[in-house]
Amino acid sequence: MKVLVATEKPFAAAAVNGIKAEIEAAGNELALLEKYTEKAQLLDAVKDADALIIRSDKVDAEVLDAAKQLKIVVRAGAGYDNIDLAAATAHNVVAENTPGQNANAVAELVFGLLVFAVRNFYNGKAGTELMGKKLGILAFGNVGRNVARIAKGFGMDVYAYDAFCPAEVIEKAGVHAVANQEALFETCDVVSLHIPATPETKQSINYALVGKMKKGGILVNTARKEVINEPELLKLMAEREDLKFVTDIMPDANADFQKFEGRYFSTPKKMGAQTAEANTNAGIAAAKQINAFFKDGDTKFQVNK
Ligand code: NAD
Repeated sequence: MKVLVATEKPFAAAAVNGIKAEIEAAGNELALLEKYTEKAQLLDAVKDADALIIRSDKVDAEVLDAAKQLKIVVRAGAGYDNIDLAAATAHNVVAENTPGQNANAVAELVFGLLVFAVRNFYNGKAGTELMGKKLGILAFGNVGRNVARIAKGFGMDVYAYDAFCPAEVIEKAGVHAVANQEALFETCDVVSLHIPATPETKQSINYALVGKMKKGGILVNTARKEVINEPELLKLMAEREDLKFVTDIMPDANADFQKFEGRYFSTPKKMGAQTAEANTNAGIAAAKQINAFFKDGDTKFQVNK
């Protein structure tokens, strides 16, 4: 089977070598399309691919139309909103992600952002500590669970809400389960977002919700920019001079947020999963999943069921 790795922003060389080794050990063939600049290059490369590994690359109906032999596409990473799932299903293509592979990387960055925020962006003035503060985790998935683990090391009091993960699972991890996201924002000093971008979550972090936070509240976003209602958050931050917002996903309205000097920070690029470990782990996991799919029909990580 021909496995195409199509990456506008390539994997690190170590990850490509690892993917190649996995694919070839299973008797499959690897093809590489890196740093492509035109969609036409992708449309041409997918023509004879049986499987496709991507990163943030967009796989839409046009790509799927061109990929006549494609059986499986794997997004090396957690978020898969760059794949048109309905179109994949219509083309009989299994779409998968590689959950958990970059979760620790993202979770560590949450605390990088958070310490920076509570220490006033290192401006020399006395800040506050995280110990004893209430941290709210919105969505207790792979990243959320790693955030909880690290938060306990900081001595934080940890709360979580997840629409699909049962409260017992959250409590079993030593985290307080709350009944809904409103309660999370009301209760916590810091809320860290780990929801995927779905029709339900898009624009859901809005004026009413964030406005429930206590004085001095901090919002951390390492999920997706689409989950935030930017005009409403801008309005709220203009009204509430106590709120801080830190993120590794630059909002569309970055220039407007930058007006809140000392209360807002965005990394220049999406940074959460940008570690050598995460990069390699996700690519190799994608290769293993493709091998398992061709060998045993394994679709454990399918997201377009
Ligand atoms: P995951 O699939 O393991 O967990 C997502 C969790 O969200 C699940 O537990 C699910 O039950 C829950 N959920 C879904 N819809 C919900 C809703 N409406 N309300 C509350 N909970 C809901 O994913 P993950 O690995 O934890 O990653 C979370 C998100 O982080 C990804 O979807 C992705 O968008 C983002 N991410 C960002 C970076 C980065 O570089 N900043 C890297 C990886 C992932």
